[in-house]
Amino acid sequence: MSTTLFIDGEWQAASSGAEFETLDPATGRPHATVSDAGASDADAAVRAARAALESPAWAGITPAQRARILWRVGDLIDEHAEELAALETLDQGQPLGISRAVSVAGAAEHFRYYAGYVTKIYGETAPLSFPGVLQYTKREPVGVCALITPWNFPLMIAGWKIAPALACGNTIVVKPAEQTPMTTVRLMELCRQADVPTGVINLLTGGPEAGRALVEHPGVDKVSFTGSTETGRAIVRASAGNLKRVSLELGGKAPSIVLPDADLDAAVAGCLRGSLLNSGQVCAAYTRFLVHRSLADEFAERCAKAVSAMRLGAGRAPDTELGPLVTAEHRDHVDALVRSGVREGAHLLAGGGPAEELPGFFYRPTVFTGVRDDMRIAREEVFGPVLSVLPYDEEDEAVARANDTEYGLAAAVWTRDVGSAHRVAGAIRAGTVFINMPNPVDASAPWGGFKASGSGREMGRGAIDLYTEVKSVWTSLA
Ligand code: ADP
Repeated sequence: MSTTLFIDGEWQAASSGAEFETLDPATGRPHATVSDAGASDADAAVRAARAALESPAWAGITPAQRARILWRVGDLIDEHAEELAALETLDQGQPLGISRAVSVAGAAEHFRYYAGYVTKIYGETAPLSFPGVLQYTKREPVGVCALITPWNFPLMIAGWKIAPALACGNTIVVKPAEQTPMTTVRLMELCRQADVPTGVINLLTGGPEAGRALVEHPGVDKVSFTGSTETGRAIVRASAGNLKRVSLELGGKAPSIVLPDADLDAAVAGCLRGSLLNSGQVCAAYTRFLVHRSLADEFAERCAKAVSAMRLGAGRAPDTELGPLVTAEHRDHVDALVRSGVREGAHLLAGGGPAEELPGFFYRPTVFTGVRDDMRIAREEVFGPVLSVLPYDEEDEAVARANDTEYGLAAAVWTRDVGSAHRVAGAIRAGTVFINMPNPVDASAPWGGFKASGSGREMGRGAIDLYTEVKSVWTSLA
């Protein structure tokens, strides 16, 4: 199979003719050839998006018509759910159940959620103290939006960005991660089938070069990026030329605090779900288990027993519990961090290496005890199935250590006491705190980070703020 770029309503090869291969992480074998966009392709895509922004086919249609287009995209995703889920699993590796329930369903829901928003993007009137005027605000599209997505949940995260961007009347150039472009390619076709007008959506497949070209392009008004904190920093620097609006959802190192009165069965089960979804390739994955010393040994033993029994396998196999990591390079990154943990003196209770008997990029789910806060495995984002248990004695100490990180995306607390739950939730510096549960997302709940985990909130009303400019209009009543 081979795919191309989508620019101004046309499928076309990269102007350089360059291509690359995308692999099946469960086998390591290529399954598609993909066009590799460069700066001139980025320029063509941005020009197309700019022209479409003012076109009668897009700027001239009513909010109700725009809403119907978005709703139709959601329905088309559902109509093609099995095909999309299989494609996501093939390209990304995630178990088919996750592709269906999280990736495909999540993308469809985002289109329908923001279809509902289109007709409810209100302005305001303010009670001005200035005499003799009427003032009101309007929310206008920001303009051409570059949407740069990562490889962990390609289809769903494309939906997080494309749906609200279009709902607010913007035009887009989307660039999926080079490791996992395929479901975004298919989404473009479905958007066209739903009558998204020519030039409103454009797709560049390719790597960092295509991303950089978009971020630096003076014709791009906004960048929405989900990915690593390091690349987020590069994007902030590169976007300074025309002071693009930038929203970022970056790395995480989520703490999960187990208080002494927690329901241990629920905490173990919930922490494992919250840490091992998509083999831990989740920015909100729970990876630092701060467990009260009275429970820590038992917690660690139970986690080790549970992960050692998990079935690793290809995402398409029905009994798979844990799929592969996305690439060999990423598996090696995870392994290097695990090796550093061993070198720094952490104790390996389970796992601790690639699953070499399997083809593809599998890693054994790993549990460490004896982890100190200054070890790399406690500080750096692993993005793999690697769990660290860190005992604590006092609640204040647990909160301080949970907050002692550059990240602040998500956190969890496990307790039976409602006061403790909300006291800890209030003290944690993170965009989302989950009490007694793993870490799902919902189109209606704001999602984003404090500190180096990013800026801006996707989902809910937050995304409307990201994809609109507020204009204040004053009228003299004289
Ligand atoms: P990772 O390091 O885990 O592969 P990145 O954060 O680098 O993740 O990548 C996320 C997305 O950002 C991908 O689509 C990638 O191609 C893109 N990207 C990488 N570097 C840059 C950059 N300097 N500018 C813009 N986009 C980039």
